[in-house]
Amino acid sequence: MDFRRVLRYVPFLTIHAIACGVILVGFSWTGFVVAVALFFGRMFVITAFYHRYFSHRTFRTHRVTQFLFAFAGTTCAQRGPVWWAAHHREHHRHSDGPPDIHSPHQHGLLHSHSGWFLTERGLGTDWSVVPDWAKYPELRWLERLHVIGPLVLAALMYGMGEVLLRIDPTLNTSGVSMLVWGFGVSTVALYHGTFTINSLAHTLGNRRFATSDDSRNSLLLSLLTLGEGWHNNHHYYPGTARQGFYWWEIDITFYVLKAMSWIGLVWDLRPVPKRVYAAAAATRVRMGESALPTRPWPGLTRPTAKEASGIRSDGGGA
Ligand SMILES: [Zn+2]
Ligand SMILES: [Zn+2]
Repeated sequence: MDFRRVLRYVPFLTIHAIACGVILVGFSWTGFVVAVALFFGRMFVITAFYHRYFSHRTFRTHRVTQFLFAFAGTTCAQRGPVWWAAHHREHHRHSDGPPDIHSPHQHGLLHSHSGWFLTERGLGTDWSVVPDWAKYPELRWLERLHVIGPLVLAALMYGMGEVLLRIDPTLNTSGVSMLVWGFGVSTVALYHGTFTINSLAHTLGNRRFATSDDSRNSLLLSLLTLGEGWHNNHHYYPGTARQGFYWWEIDITFYVLKAMSWIGLVWDLRPVPKRVYAAAAATRVRMGESALPTRPWPGLTRPTAKEASGIRSDGGGA
C-alpha cells in the first residue's frame, strides 16, 4: 500500500470526522448559527478573493487587505490562494479538455467534485502560471504554512465554546460542540458548496454562451455559492468582478464587493464589457430559432494563459 497516498487523505477526512461529531454532541442552535455565519462569510472570501481576485484579478485592493483575505481564505482548508489560483487558471485554459484536472466530462463527477485535489498533480502548485503572486514574500509564506489557518479557526471555535459555556450555559454549547459545528460542519459544507462549481456547474443548468466547454448557469448554485453559479457567464468572460451579468442574476459576492468599494477597501472593479452584452443578445436571437447545443460548439478557441488569468498589461492587482 502506498502510505504517502493514504496520508494525503488524512486532513480532508479528519475534518469530515469532526463534522460527524454532531452525532455525539447533538444539535445546538448556537453552534448552528455560528456554522451558517462562517459558511457564508468564508464562501465570500473564496469567491471574492481566491477566485475573482487571486485567480482573475478582476479588482484591486491594498496589499494589507490582500494578505488579510488570503489568510482568511486559508481557514477554509482549501490550501493557499496561490495554489487555488494556479489550478483555477489552468481550469480556464483547458476547460473540459483532456488536461482539465477537474472536468466532470474527462474524469467523472466524483473526481471533479472531490478527488482531483488529492492526486499528485492536484497537490502541487505550478508557479509558472501565477508569476504575478510570486513577488509577495508574505503570500509565499502563507502557501508554505496554509495549515495555520484551519488550526487557528479550530482553536478559536473551541475557545469560544468554552467561554460561552461559562458565561451562559443555556446557550447549549461547549468547546467540543463549537469545534464540531463552527469548524467541522461549517468547513465540510463550505467544501462541498465550493466543489459544486467544479462538478455541477459543468453539468447542470443553462448555457447562454456557446463557450468551448460545458459550463452552465444555475440560480440554485448561485444562491449556494454567493454568485459563482453563473458559471457559463464566467467562462465566457472571466475578466469581470461580477458573474451575474443582469440584475436578476443574483450575485451576492459582487454586491458585497461593490459596498466594499464605496469605503475604499477595494477598487477598480472590472465591469462586463458592452460587447459581451451584445453577444448575449445575439445568442437570445439564435435561441429563438433553435436551442443552444449542450455540448461545446466546434471551432471555438480556448483562452490563452493570459486571458484565463485576467492579467492586464498594466499589472493590475495590488
Ligand atoms: Zn469551470
Ligand atoms: Zn474562474
